[in-house]
Amino acid sequence: MTEAGDGVRAVQRGKVWLVGAGPGDPELLTVRAFKLLNGACVVAYDELVSPAILALAPANAERIPVGRRANGCQHHEARIHPLVVVRALEGKQVVRLKGGDPLVFGRGGEEAQELAAARIPFEIVPGISAALAAAARTGIPLTHRDCASGVTLATAHAAREGDVNLASVPVTGTIVFYMGLARIDTTCEALIAGGRARETPAAVVSKATLPDERVVVGTLADIGARVREACLEAPALLVVGEVVAWRVESPPQSLAEAEANTATG
Ligand code: SAH
Repeated sequence: MTEAGDGVRAVQRGKVWLVGAGPGDPELLTVRAFKLLNGACVVAYDELVSPAILALAPANAERIPVGRRANGCQHHEARIHPLVVVRALEGKQVVRLKGGDPLVFGRGGEEAQELAAARIPFEIVPGISAALAAAARTGIPLTHRDCASGVTLATAHAAREGDVNLASVPVTGTIVFYMGLARIDTTCEALIAGGRARETPAAVVSKATLPDERVVVGTLADIGARVREACLEAPALLVVGEVVAWRVESPPQSLAEAEANTATG
């Protein structure tokens, strides 16, 4: 705290960084996120943020788990965790880590609004969103000159009743559904009812960039059954569109890998 010339006390204000933690692999953090995490004294994190990323914060940093499971329904309604506001008002520098990008289905916009309303300075640091990571990892181009001039990021999960209107998503181009595993059948049926062919290629990518990443490919007609058969787990994304058929896989780098692939046919 410093004494200003006119006798008014200038208080050192805290700040909140709304930081995208990327899809899971710590290597996919931005340099800025890495540096902020390294120097953090308070880290408030979502349940999707992997332990390997949290481990990058100093051992003595205060760690605040945030999210529905961590804080019941109360937080669901309160949007930003009350402790984040308290620590910032105490003058602390708070890193608010969010999975993927803070502004893609992460409610980062709502948190920023609340911070602005409380007159707490904030900065938003982008992260690699799950759709981009899943596409890169599986070789599915999200746009393609021959078949998709656009990509829609959508959610199959209604945050509030009546929010999701699948009939309003475009009938051409790629759609990536976040939070859609539990509603995969309803989503695919609604897309077919909305004009997409049953044979439209579709893929589900589970735990993209994490060690147990998996992908299942099918069509709108059968992807739900295939995913259940393979027992894919959340977090997962559903990618719908012709681009799924344009998936490219890299040839193996090592000779041993190439031989193993030939042996298994
Ligand atoms: N802000 C995040 C999305 C938060 S919503 C982002 O930009 O990525 C949470 C949803 O994101 C999950 O239900 C899942 O659909 C998706 N998701 C997050 N991480 C993922 C991952 N590693 N692999 C696949 N999907 C993921």
